[in-house]
Amino acid sequence: MTDKDGIMARRNFLKLAALAAGGAASLGAVGEASAVRARKAAREPASPIYLALNMSKVANRPDSFKLMKKVGPKVCITTATHPGFVGFQANLQTGILPLAGRYGGGKVHMERELNPVGNYQYTMWKSWRDHDDFHLKQFKRVFELCGSCLSMVVEGPWEPVYRVVKAKMTQIRSMGDITKLADDLRRGKKFVRFANPRRCVSLAPHTVKPGRERAFEKGVVDTLEAVSDSTGFLGYMVLKQIGVCALGSFMLDPKSMAQSLMTLGANPPDNPQPLFKTPEAMPHPPEYLVHTEWDSPEMAQLGFAKVLVNHRIRRIHDQGVMAHLIRGPYIMFFNPMMEEPGWRDYLK
Ligand code: FE
Repeated sequence: MTDKDGIMARRNFLKLAALAAGGAASLGAVGEASAVRARKAAREPASPIYLALNMSKVANRPDSFKLMKKVGPKVCITTATHPGFVGFQANLQTGILPLAGRYGGGKVHMERELNPVGNYQYTMWKSWRDHDDFHLKQFKRVFELCGSCLSMVVEGPWEPVYRVVKAKMTQIRSMGDITKLADDLRRGKKFVRFANPRRCVSLAPHTVKPGRERAFEKGVVDTLEAVSDSTGFLGYMVLKQIGVCALGSFMLDPKSMAQSLMTLGANPPDNPQPLFKTPEAMPHPPEYLVHTEWDSPEMAQLGFAKVLVNHRIRRIHDQGVMAHLIRGPYIMFFNPMMEEPGWRDYLK
């Protein structure tokens, strides 16, 4: 952590500790628990960017896709207008990793069978507060737009917020970017990758034993660095969950919640308030999300297999990751349908 990061983290801590103390005084025992969580969140180091991951499961039928195409771009434009926004990535689930039969009912390609299907929408921000502020200030627009999509939602939305623990990401080139490639090579850039239309995002949630966070973080980075030589590997991010955005999860105060059910979207609640503060929802035991990108789901499957069939990588993964887990590994594959990739520049 740099000195500047340290000062920022301390400032955040003081602000959040005050907020948490206020909450505890007014809410009693429940408030105390959330105050502890808020204090823990405040101790997290500063991150180059923060990611809000809006997760839902939607009915897999033609109407849903029509609706997504109609509403999706409007949500993107509204979000992108807010200060602090640095990019997004809209992912639709395509399958899972059967993991040598442990999840043998699943397949790498389940585009038609998965129902409901995972709809995982990242937005990236300079600060998690910018994202909270966006949901507060743009509430009416988002309420109308998202409200018109509720007919396809089976589960969610739930919107955890993450900091970046470690990332190896690069701007992804296309074959048309040949002049930019020449520039990359001239400047001695080592990690250069190309996108193709089958590019895949894989997400692996991990619950970690309390107290083992540091060991897990080292182990998972060592594993990903070892796997990053695999054919088709495009990059990784290790993300740690620091809370949940209440408004992004449609968790409003009870009065607003009832009002929101009295309309088809034209009449938003009078004074919607988030039901909790983002850091109050920091999970315990700690939750991590391992984000990797690959040339295709098939390439991803080959790469992940190295933690089982390559002696060196298996040892790193067994000792560095498996030994510290409460829950995992489970790997889901997604198609990144749309992306504003500006966020990648912040992770150089
Ligand atoms: Fe959001």
